Amino acid sequence: MSLDNKKIIPNDWYLEAEKWRKKMSELKRCPCGEIPDQLSVAFNGQGAKWATASGDCCGFWEVEFRTEYESIESDKCNQFAQQAWNDAKRHESLL
Ligand SMILES: [Zn+2]
Repeated sequence: MSLDNKKIIPNDWYLEAEKWRKKMSELKRCPCGEIPDQLSVAFNGQGAKWATASGDCCGFWEVEFRTEYESIESDKCNQFAQQAWNDAKRHESLL
């Protein structure tokens, strides 16, 4: 299903994620080459423990992160999402 954090996101997932789209500051560059200014955050179907964050640039690359059971629309969850996105390993050409 996943290969190096790269996953094709089904359209319905992406549309569902729209409502949790949050503007973030200081996001790092997406592997697609763009710097997103928003992340879409959604539960990944494994209960409330894990969620995924995806850049609004392409919606193609996503990172998984632990929600610590915080509400998905909470600021805390957004922080986790931003941290996971920025901490994800990138090819050096993207830094
Ligand atoms: Zn992108």
